[in-house]
Amino acid sequence: MKRKRKIAVILIGSLLLTGCAAQLEEIIYASKETTESIFAMDTYMTVTAYGAHGKEAVAEAVKEIQRLDDLLSTGSEESEVTALNQNGGGILSEDTAYLWEKSVEAFEETKGAFDVTIYPVMKAWGFTDSNFQVPEKEMLQKLIQKVDSSAAVYDAEIKNLQLPQSVEIDFGGIAKGYTSERVAQVMKDCGVKSGMLNLGGNVELIGEKPDGSKFKVAIQSPAHDGNYLGVLQISDMAVITSGSYERYFEEDGVTYHHIIDPTTGYPANKGLLSVTIVSQDATLADAYSTALFVMGTEEAISFWRTHTKEFDAVLLTEEGELLVTEGLQGAFSSERAYHIIEKQEDIK
Ligand code: ADP
Ligand code: MG
Repeated sequence: MKRKRKIAVILIGSLLLTGCAAQLEEIIYASKETTESIFAMDTYMTVTAYGAHGKEAVAEAVKEIQRLDDLLSTGSEESEVTALNQNGGGILSEDTAYLWEKSVEAFEETKGAFDVTIYPVMKAWGFTDSNFQVPEKEMLQKLIQKVDSSAAVYDAEIKNLQLPQSVEIDFGGIAKGYTSERVAQVMKDCGVKSGMLNLGGNVELIGEKPDGSKFKVAIQSPAHDGNYLGVLQISDMAVITSGSYERYFEEDGVTYHHIIDPTTGYPANKGLLSVTIVSQDATLADAYSTALFVMGTEEAISFWRTHTKEFDAVLLTEEGELLVTEGLQGAFSSERAYHIIEKQEDIK
């Protein structure tokens, strides 16, 4: 009887000790930072993990980025997307099926402002291989007739996508968002509770900072002057920006950028310089950042008003007006003047 009790006490004691050791390890390693930078998907990416499992998690993260780059790159002859474009479709892998389904959802929600079948137009402008040129208007008009995700036939059961003749896809407007979502998951699976991904200005936060405070994410200014549009204090979110200043070329004094209005075939110019989307869904955030840029100020605001549960946004207009949706009140701060967009439209 006595012996039994002694064993029980020892057992509980050792359990407490291992608990303490784990806790101690968490405390010691909590602020340990592991960071790696790589170039992938045409941009610089930085992966940061805090805490005990950082090294392994960052290595896995880099592998995942490279795997998705290999799968989705239109520039590579070996990628799945290239094979789909060359063969007029095929059976999709799990990642590509998810991306196609999300892309179609965004296409439908945004009434075609987001359309991954934009690829032939991107090629005509030379955005795909940096042989930039301004295409003939007639050519663009011909090409945009084929830009229509709803013309593709997709069997979700067996993940079979059939693309009509001359229809080609490019996940460039959604791939980085999806990559950050996947990479964050891979890192969480490794035990990471706090971390940050920066995929060419598209940020994804894992949890909070090791000290329990919120992360500070600066929103880049299109002016490239080192200034920021503002700072967001948030955790566990994706912050994804589309801007006309990201990728462009100049010809005869005119600037042409890489976000195309599918209704015209020309770079979207509906009054916005940059769109930042804040959402828990990084993939959707990426699609919407591109789509809202295409929509322009007024339409973007009405779109947000019907999707307030899904995302918030920071918009910069060509006039230099900074617009911030209501949900970010408190999280957003800026030295510039800004205007809060309310959920309910002002009745004047
Ligand atoms: P970035 O890649 O600079 O972060 P975006 O997320 O806005 O910016 O993606 C731009 C890319 O999206 C283009 O390079 C092109 O591949 C693709 N794209 C351009 N216009 C559209 C569109 N209207 N719908 C869907 N994808 C688009
Ligand atoms: Mg995008």
